Amino acid sequence: MKKIALFPGSFDPFTVGHESIVNRALPLFDELVIGIGVNQDKHKLFPLDKRVEWIKALFKHEQKLSVQVFEGLTVDFCKKINAEYVLRGLRTSADFEYERAIGQTNKVLDEGIETVFLLTRPEHTFISSSIVKDVFKNGGDISKFIPEGIKIDV
Ligand code: ADP
Repeated sequence: MKKIALFPGSFDPFTVGHESIVNRALPLFDELVIGIGVNQDKHKLFPLDKRVEWIKALFKHEQKLSVQVFEGLTVDFCKKINAEYVLRGLRTSADFEYERAIGQTNKVLDEGIETVFLLTRPEHTFISSSIVKDVFKNGGDISKFIPEGIKIDV
């Protein structure tokens, strides 16, 4: 059976931290689906269609990777795409506590799903979409936080 992983998130916007997690996870799985969840509470800045377009363009040569939008429970979407793995990135102990609760909840909801965590590279520990959003909203240059292949055109 193919090893399919879902990397769920808001990716508002997709940062170099996310890019690094994806590139390091690719060799571990047969397929990797970047799933943009649309029903989370967080305030979104960048339009959904742009977020999809930017990530697709960035990984256009990556045969194992696809980008999809989903609504509802992560475990339900995993079932739909036959993913047995949920990929998440860990930066800090705060991330760990947050992710632990979500991962353990998902395990109760669906015993067949394993959450796999990759540690952030040290130089990406401080990078978060929320802070990048704030910098952008206030007219700052966000290019150093965004993958080189993404041109923010909004
Ligand atoms: P969510 O809204 O689900 O937290 P995000 O788009 O903020 O979605 O993050 C998606 C995943 O990427 C999460 O597991 C998050 O911990 C991870 N992540 C975010 N920023 C980084 C980073 N700089 N380095 C490593 N992982 C990160």
